[in-house]
Amino acid sequence: MSRVPKRARTKEEQYSMFPDKGTTKSGYVNPRDQEVIRNTRKAGTGRGLWIYELKCRKCGHHYGANGNYIHSRKCPKCQGGQPGPSL
Ligand SMILES: [Zn+2]
Repeated sequence: MSRVPKRARTKEEQYSMFPDKGTTKSGYVNPRDQEVIRNTRKAGTGRGLWIYELKCRKCGHHYGANGNYIHSRKCPKCQGGQPGPSL
């Protein structure tokens, strides 16, 4: 029986365990035209989640969003989305 050597996970690896289909990369644009600008490096709600800065490509509004909601995020200004966490 082989044992996989255990080692401590780095922070990046822990965060990468969360379902992420590339939606947290800067430059990602979700189906509603919301573009990821950057990871603010602020902790979002939920373990291992960051707050990201998103930009609406329709009206140019910048706002914060939890990493796990980026794919479905609507612009708070022109699409009736929830106001995001402050940047
Ligand atoms: Zn907008």
